[in-house]
Amino acid sequence: MTLSWKRPVTLVNGRIVTADGEADSLRFGTDIIAIGERPHAGDGVIDVDGAFVLPGLINAHEHLELNHYGALPTGGPYRNASEWIDAMRPRLRADGAIRANSRFPLADRLFIGGLKNLLAGVTLVAHHNPPYPGLARVVPVRVLQPYAWAHSFALEGHPVGAGGEPGPRVAQTCHRAGENVPFFVHAAEGIDRAAEAEIDRLDAAGCLRATTVLVHGVAMTDVGWRRASSTGTSLVWCPQSNRALFGATIPVRAFLDTPGDAWRRLCLGTDSRLTGARDLLEELRVAQAMTAVTAEELLRMVTSSAADVLRTRRSGRRGRGAPADLTMIPASAADAASSLVSTRRSEVRAVIVGGTPMVADPRVGSLFPARRTAASPIRVDGIEKLANAALVRRMARCPIAEPGVTCGS
Ligand SMILES: [Zn+2]
Repeated sequence: MTLSWKRPVTLVNGRIVTADGEADSLRFGTDIIAIGERPHAGDGVIDVDGAFVLPGLINAHEHLELNHYGALPTGGPYRNASEWIDAMRPRLRADGAIRANSRFPLADRLFIGGLKNLLAGVTLVAHHNPPYPGLARVVPVRVLQPYAWAHSFALEGHPVGAGGEPGPRVAQTCHRAGENVPFFVHAAEGIDRAAEAEIDRLDAAGCLRATTVLVHGVAMTDVGWRRASSTGTSLVWCPQSNRALFGATIPVRAFLDTPGDAWRRLCLGTDSRLTGARDLLEELRVAQAMTAVTAEELLRMVTSSAADVLRTRRSGRRGRGAPADLTMIPASAADAASSLVSTRRSEVRAVIVGGTPMVADPRVGSLFPARRTAASPIRVDGIEKLANAALVRRMARCPIAEPGVTCGS
């Protein structure tokens, strides 16, 4: 036995959401060992008092380094993303606060983007921008890798990364990605004919295919979605960002009801806080308020469908052998999905990544000693929490503050 040895933990008296229903216990180390099995001798046993235990949530669209700017007044509505980018350009040069925020070290910016997600129960993020060196190391949640990406047709060859990295060529990058790596691109981001025409352009370039993940698709028609989804192309929906820029979003009901299994290829993302909601939990509420979509459909969009769209083999999966990426939420409604859409980040009971508790409500604070993990107090939106001590040290060192979060009790 070494000091790094961590005994398994069994969560009991819980409502563990599985592919086939609910179980009352879950046993895990770094991976999920068993569901619905009694604790073994020597296990840490944590009574979760009827809380729902979900697979860690997946945020399918994020720009990790941009969240610390906060929500910038967009000045919209616009007809397409190019109009917004053109309107932003002079402000990027003239606005003192924006310039100051652009000078923080990239590692700190990425860390804050990760912290935003972690606090909202997200354990896997699809980052859309260059895979910066050390990205996975500085972000406190999992970052999807490998991935291929282009910003958009409009920003091919234009600076898009934090260091001015140019936007990759759409068609070339899509085809180089191969058969198993997802390729992400902002597309049909707008409400005019120019935005809609991007779907034809992708089609003509052979880019509507099973590995392609379109982001936004606001201008896409039912017919466009039927065509795209029939090729296996997926779509990430970012309702708050769409509303902020265009005052409109996708006809999500029609997209979900498209004959066949197109619904499996639709998932949810926050985009960055420049235009998106504060976090994925808020985004779920925006989604429900804007459109006729059920809580169950939303839950799928941030768990199983997202795992399929992102082509993850282990993360985002439920059941034995999957990483113990878990999000625990109070049972505020009869079912997990309805509870999730009413949960705020201060109410999240625990977030566990690879079996390591990262943030937890003090009532399940025994998770930390049970997994041999040091914890320190923090406050999230005024509510006392315990957080992984290494995470708290990193927060204390970070020159960027996460609004609403303080270290110490
Ligand atoms: Zn985006």
